[in-house]
Amino acid sequence: MKLPVLLIVVFFAFSCKEKEWDEEMTYRQDNKTSRPILMDVNYKEQKLTVWKNENGDYLLDEDIKLYKNEVQELGPHTGLEKSKIIDWDQTSQVNITLWPSTSIKFKVDPSFSGSEKQPIYQALNHWKTKTNINFTEVGSNEKIYFRKVSSGCQASLGYPGNNGINTVDISPTCDVQSVTHEIGHVMGMIHEHQRINRNTYISLKPETFDFLRNNYASIYTLLIANLQKEQSNLEDPFPFDMGSVMMYGSYPRNNIPLQNDLISRNLPLFKKKMGAW
Ligand SMILES: [Zn+2]
Repeated sequence: MKLPVLLIVVFFAFSCKEKEWDEEMTYRQDNKTSRPILMDVNYKEQKLTVWKNENGDYLLDEDIKLYKNEVQELGPHTGLEKSKIIDWDQTSQVNITLWPSTSIKFKVDPSFSGSEKQPIYQALNHWKTKTNINFTEVGSNEKIYFRKVSSGCQASLGYPGNNGINTVDISPTCDVQSVTHEIGHVMGMIHEHQRINRNTYISLKPETFDFLRNNYASIYTLLIANLQKEQSNLEDPFPFDMGSVMMYGSYPRNNIPLQNDLISRNLPLFKKKMGAW
């Protein structure tokens, strides 16, 4: 018997979770000297709305840094801020450059301790064993540089160009799964939950909007903007993958159980459609 398209599981309730939310948001806000600014930019010939942080990084979807040499600022974006209703179904077009070779040189910031380097090597090994990409550690002329930072896990999308380096920011909070996710961005992958066809498979719980608006009004637009759909210039013939490492909440992060991971990312409080997770 064919199952109708139904919402099958409401993932979890909000009760008892607010403490983790508050801790996470306090952590985030304490690590920023100023609130990010929502900017309109031209990036690789596409107009995008992104967040510019206090370091001057242009951030797409929380953890994707745009290559600065590809960014042309168009000015502060005010539309989302003023809007009472944020459309999480708005679609952005993102242009990504694929890597020209499967042999990629990387370098690890020498200031990482031996144990701090382990998640990086384990994540690289994960990619090596499951794909045809071959990573080689070098002392110079690297294309990927794993840089030690005090907070967050961030990377840029795709190939950095002939004279560029994709600098991946790794803090002590980034575990193997997080680094594996960031390497996915380096390879040119966007988030699974932001795929253009994601509405066939997931939806945001209606109460999530109210919860975010009521509890995190000052960053509400940031949270919703980070969930909007994206279409890249690359073909994506693969089926939607509920277990993708590129989907928030699909894998445990920093040894946090799944439901708490969804909370700690302060993002997708999804319900799922069409089949089991
Ligand atoms: Zn990401």
